[in-house]
Amino acid sequence: YDIPALRELDVAHHLPAQSSYKLQQDLGGSRIITHAQGSTIYDGEGHAILDGMAGLWCVNVGYGRPELAEVAARQMEELPFYNTFFRTATVPPIELATKLAGLLGGKLQHVFFNNSGSESNDTVFRLVRTYWGLKGEPNRTVFISRHNAYHGSTVASASLGGMTFMHAQGGLPIPGIEHVMQPYPFGEGFGEDPEAFATRAAQAIEDRILAVGPENVAAFIGEPVQGAGGVIIPPPGYWQKVEAICRKYGILLVSDEVICGFGRLGEWFGFQHYGISPDIVSMAKGLSSGYLPISATGVSSEIVEVLRASGEEFVHGYTYSGHPVSAAVALRNLQIIEDEHLVDRVREDVGPYLNAALQRLADQPLVGEVRSIGLLGAVEIVAEKGTNKRHGTGGQAGPIVRDHCIAGGLMVRAIRDSIVMSPPLVITHEEIDRLVGIIGAALDASMEQLAA
Ligand code: PLP
Repeated sequence: YDIPALRELDVAHHLPAQSSYKLQQDLGGSRIITHAQGSTIYDGEGHAILDGMAGLWCVNVGYGRPELAEVAARQMEELPFYNTFFRTATVPPIELATKLAGLLGGKLQHVFFNNSGSESNDTVFRLVRTYWGLKGEPNRTVFISRHNAYHGSTVASASLGGMTFMHAQGGLPIPGIEHVMQPYPFGEGFGEDPEAFATRAAQAIEDRILAVGPENVAAFIGEPVQGAGGVIIPPPGYWQKVEAICRKYGILLVSDEVICGFGRLGEWFGFQHYGISPDIVSMAKGLSSGYLPISATGVSSEIVEVLRASGEEFVHGYTYSGHPVSAAVALRNLQIIEDEHLVDRVREDVGPYLNAALQRLADQPLVGEVRSIGLLGAVEIVAEKGTNKRHGTGGQAGPIVRDHCIAGGLMVRAIRDSIVMSPPLVITHEEIDRLVGIIGAALDASMEQLAA
């Protein structure tokens, strides 16, 4: 490739997602990733970079899987597309829905397909409203979510999310969405007994339900572990308390598994790790390991029975709902996860290995906390050891350390003052050691800058 020319064209014509277009221009264009293998991405300038983010929390089986390319090619030749609007279906989504129903287990026996996590959460929004309307409780319209939650970038999913900078674009959140505190031990719960904090964070949900009126509340939505919010691992007992509150008031419990699903926490789904039983789940990312866009909304039999009994149409869907090529690739991807025992590998091997390796950073003077669960991890940077005080107004230290990581050959993300990671489930011990070593070196290299 002519990389300098491509970088110029990038600035001239291409608007990347979630980006400052001034920064894109100042940098002379985006870094162009040309190929990848296993857990390593390569840019056009010849750098090999360890992918600590699995793309964007999604390439669970790693890069360079010819079997996924083959299944896509085969399906494209046989039938590249047909829709599900005309009382029609194709083979792969039926097989994939069946597979997912088995993995989800219990009451989650039905699956609706979309293209992205955002779209899945829009489906959740409309499905929940439709369900309560048909059930004869149309006042149940309010969703409860949490500050700093990320549920997507469309209007409904960004509204369900609790990122105020996304709401600040104007008009969001749409009406009927309430945000309560996040279960963030190192933030809101700093220095508090974990059990007391779990109770307080769950109580915030019940308090809001009572304030809104339980008869008006439709659903609670949460990620088992908040990912884009900064890898926020809730204190033990939190999810059991949340589930009990939802049951007490007859409120639907929605688990957003877009990051936590497909082995990330060492179980197929995050809700299984926490031993809870949601009514709806959103899945995307690891569903196809990012090889093609696809998402899925898992729905309980009780909800589907209400829709069935009404005889009404669920007036919602996308052209590419149940896209046969994406579904075929997702199905094959799940088979790789199964054949290579990647879920067990996270739980028993690489998850604990990452956790132990990260502990080596705990004594570094800038590190306030290291935390991980499965293959999701964070290193939180503070201004004063033993406290959760930030450098400056907060949010400045993370990007400095991140840039040193990238320069050192590791792709990670800064979320405020946390360096977060979510590597492919196939990452090796040697790569984990390298990942942690690069973060350590980046922290050391940032000391002077942060002291200034
Ligand atoms: N939900 C969660 C928990 C996510 O992390 C994301 C994306 O990062 C989404 C939803 C939105 O998914 P997508 O970007 O595929 O629309």
